[in-house]
Amino acid sequence: MKIEKFANRFVCDLVAYEPGKPIEETARELGLDPDSIVKVASNENPLGPAPMALDAIRNAAAEMHIYPDGGGYKLRSALAEKYDLGLENVVLGNGSNEIIELLCHCFLNEGAALIAAEHAFVVYKLMATLFGANYVEVPDPNFVHDLDAMAAAITDETRLLFIANPNNPTGTIVDEETIDRFMEKVPEHVVVVFDEAYFEFVGDAPDTLKHVRAGRNVIVLRTFSKAYGLAGLRIGYGLGAPQVTEILQKARQPFNTNEVAQRAALASLADTDHVQATVSNNADGLAFYEVAFQEMGLEYVPSVANFVLVNVGDGDRLFAEMLKQGVIVRAMRGYKLPGWVRISVGTKVENERCLEVMKAVLATF
Ligand SMILES: *Cc1c(COP(=O)(O)O)cnc(C)c1O
Repeated sequence: MKIEKFANRFVCDLVAYEPGKPIEETARELGLDPDSIVKVASNENPLGPAPMALDAIRNAAAEMHIYPDGGGYKLRSALAEKYDLGLENVVLGNGSNEIIELLCHCFLNEGAALIAAEHAFVVYKLMATLFGANYVEVPDPNFVHDLDAMAAAITDETRLLFIANPNNPTGTIVDEETIDRFMEKVPEHVVVVFDEAYFEFVGDAPDTLKHVRAGRNVIVLRTFSKAYGLAGLRIGYGLGAPQVTEILQKARQPFNTNEVAQRAALASLADTDHVQATVSNNADGLAFYEVAFQEMGLEYVPSVANFVLVNVGDGDRLFAEMLKQGVIVRAMRGYKLPGWVRISVGTKVENERCLEVMKAVLATF
């Protein structure tokens, strides 16, 4: 008898998350130098970690025989201070992805429902499936979350509602007024999750923390993986109303975030120059791609994040052909967008190389 018969059915039903293709693997397969490869597939920071974070990482190394601070006191205090919230409002995660999973642990089961937008971050669907819950996908005309339709989709069974703002992979955002109107319609039995992984890239991001301060059943997720350049360390956080974070704290592992990550994150918060340089490089890169795509007559979705979604006709083919030349982009079939690729903003040199290779490959289509 097959062992699958005895495994949790919801797990067996899952289609594993496919990350961006790793640089080392690509270099090995192509027989290329890893340094020659341009990876613009996972929305990573092309400038790397903050210099102050690098120092903190080096200094932490000698103390790795000691367990981390399970309560994450210093980092949580710094975040509470930064946002003028209390320590009880802050929960740390092994990447903000872990907090997504913790939310599902706490609020989902068979028969419960999670609402998200049609082209939302794919991890929500993965997690809803893992917990045997119903995944309710609401159409997003022009790739923008339709909050009226999402509110209308709420039923007695709804427990979680995710708003990725800006959303990945579309790069679109909903504004504060729309969010405020939406919040008026949300009943108490639904936890609203604002996933703000790209918050730092948005000049005038909507204030969602006011709903946390008002004590609504809301949590705002942010991360050190994107603008802070610490994706490899896995550290993110949630800013939530105490009644929400209190439950999440019970569901996490005692040492869910490691000591190196906590210290590097803390140091990153102080390195404001690095975030500014990152955001400025990103704005230049977005403008570069938008002009290029307009000239090439390609359909794209105007983005406020650190990547851009562009329609190239056959995303898998463009991905495969660009890969052969050492440039890794992300095909979007998994998001039911087989014609599209998502390109992360790189350094100026990386953007130029990516575009050059893209043009050469598209000329052969
Ligand atoms: C990248 C991303 C995250 C952050 O993931 P981490 O686990 O913090 O690395 C969360 N949400 C969305 C929508 C993302 O694109």
